[in-house]
Amino acid sequence: MKYVTFSLPGESTARLGLVRDDMVTEMSAPSLLDLIRFGPERWHQRGEASGAARLSEVRLQAPIPRPLKNIVCLGLNYMSHVRETSQVLQRQAKNPDVPIFFTKAPTAVTGPCDPIPWDRAATEQVDYEVELGVIIGRGGKNISRTDALAHVFGYTIVNDVSARDVQYAHKQWFKGKSLDGFCPMGPVVVTQDEFGDPQSKGISLRIFSVALIIEFLSKGMTIEAGDIIATGTPAGVGLGRTPPEYLKEGDLVEAEIEGIGSLRNRVTAC
Ligand code: MG
Repeated sequence: MKYVTFSLPGESTARLGLVRDDMVTEMSAPSLLDLIRFGPERWHQRGEASGAARLSEVRLQAPIPRPLKNIVCLGLNYMSHVRETSQVLQRQAKNPDVPIFFTKAPTAVTGPCDPIPWDRAATEQVDYEVELGVIIGRGGKNISRTDALAHVFGYTIVNDVSARDVQYAHKQWFKGKSLDGFCPMGPVVVTQDEFGDPQSKGISLRIFSVALIIEFLSKGMTIEAGDIIATGTPAGVGLGRTPPEYLKEGDLVEAEIEGIGSLRNRVTAC
């Protein structure tokens, strides 16, 4: 199943919808986060539909517009990105032995078609990172890699927009990754039964699989329903170009993942 969070023209109210072909059917659960937290027995009940609209006529929002916690992110989780980053920073390429976790603030989340606000007083180097987003369905602690994928509700796309100058100036990446609007997400959440094996999709050479990421993350630390994990970017970011090429005002950033769709966000000065 494919879920969206949407609003009708002229309204800001967020609604939960189920997508089939080019139609969206509004569902009775108050939000995607509520549906996830109701538990697995509710996930496959279609519930009452209270209306339908064409997908092209609604405004899509991020699937979880305001996550309860920070988005957990993976740094350097693709060999190709390890190589391109090492070249730019002039250090030896070395794959990490354990996942590099950092987070993005929930206030950074924005919709799949919304502008990426560029505040020139905060950054001069806005870059993009296309990532597979994992939404946890069943929480837990000390989850083994063999059980890990059964804890996943579904998958989405995250653009881990990054202010490179801020990211490197502050040493810890949190601030440079958390500017307002720097986490476009969506356009849909594809449930894990429909999405299938996350390792078989498009991008390969991921260092830590989704199952391993969940095993590492939940070791001694509870993860909860509705938690979001951005699993890292492959090579191809602006930082990795020679010379580095950052986003400019008016640029349209399209982030696409097989089986989910694409995010289309335009950089807009604010
Ligand atoms: Mg990233």
